[in-house]
Amino acid sequence: MSDDLFLKIIAREIPADIVYEDDDVLAFRDVNPQAPLHVLVIPKTHIRTINDMQEHDAELFGKLFLAAKKIAEQQGVAEDGYRVVMNCNAAAGQTVFHVHLHLLGGRGFSWPPG
Ligand code: AMP
Repeated sequence: MSDDLFLKIIAREIPADIVYEDDDVLAFRDVNPQAPLHVLVIPKTHIRTINDMQEHDAELFGKLFLAAKKIAEQQGVAEDGYRVVMNCNAAAGQTVFHVHLHLLGGRGFSWPPG
């Protein structure tokens, strides 16, 4: 857990461009944006991957989506549309092991994803 970069952002030990915060969730701009809007929405508790999600985390994961919805509205991409992605482990490209929703907007997206 001590190597959890995102816990350091929550603790304000590492700077981030924070766009949303409540009791359970923090959201900040991705340092390497893949779209005009690229925000990471994270729980304030340490959960490594979706594989580590427990039954009692269900409400918390719902709160991540509710925060993403609010941010999309605030950032003006809700009407046009946006993409929400959560990578799990190496094959999906997860590099930071603290679960996070990628909220991407401001451009079109193709399907299937790469
Ligand atoms: P993932 O590959 O799904 O684990 O996504 C991790 C994301 O975290 C990547 O898009 C990185 O660009 C982003 N990232 C890594 N370090 C930071 C940081 N200090 N501040 C903001 N975003 C970061």
